[in-house]
Amino acid sequence: MGRIHSLQSLGTVDGPGVRFVVFVQGCPLRCKFCHNPDTWDFNAGEEISAEEIFRKVLRYREYFKDSGGITVSGGEPLMQADFVREIFALCKKEGINTCLDTSGCVINEKVLALLDVTDRVLLDWKFSSDKQYLENVGCSKNTVEDFLEILEQKAIPTTLRQVIIPTVNDNFDSLKELKSTKEKYSCVDKIELLPFKKICQTKYDQMGIEFPFASIPCPTSEQMKSFNDFINS
Ligand code: SF4
Repeated sequence: MGRIHSLQSLGTVDGPGVRFVVFVQGCPLRCKFCHNPDTWDFNAGEEISAEEIFRKVLRYREYFKDSGGITVSGGEPLMQADFVREIFALCKKEGINTCLDTSGCVINEKVLALLDVTDRVLLDWKFSSDKQYLENVGCSKNTVEDFLEILEQKAIPTTLRQVIIPTVNDNFDSLKELKSTKEKYSCVDKIELLPFKKICQTKYDQMGIEFPFASIPCPTSEQMKSFNDFINS
């Protein structure tokens, strides 16, 4: 059994193709730009079995075609590694592509076993320095780097994802680090830049907690275009 926040039957932004997306409940981190603070609490959400998720996934199989499949996102999926491994193992037996969307902040035996049934990882590469990770995420970047090393050893295709936050990481030095990381690791075949958004403000208000980056502006589409041009140059 595992704990989930919600399900999205036909997602198109969390991995290749059309995907069934499972958002698990519970995250040990506290990113100051977190879009889903309602996924933090490990005791909230709904309890569900891997088999039940798998049965739901099967209903959407025809939409997956060659590139789609299942994505497990969060919250932090690595905190429920056994549960996610069970879902992925069932899906893989049926030839359904499995994708893990994670911060890469947990490494243990259960996580390694989960990676053995994972076809792709969407890895958050939130900041270029350990200092920024400690200040804005609540974990060391060293763990995330170690996690990427494991993906490299296991040759798991990986997409690095970064949320572009004006005045925090919207600079070319940070993007250069992202680009050089892709060059260094042969498992990394894609970089995705995501614009910082603030529509989550209402969630923070409802929870009665402060949105730490509330005063930071969102990047313009022109800025995003120039950053994407740089990454793809
Ligand atoms: S890892 Fe994801 S869910 Fe957890 S705090 Fe950061 S952005 Fe939010």
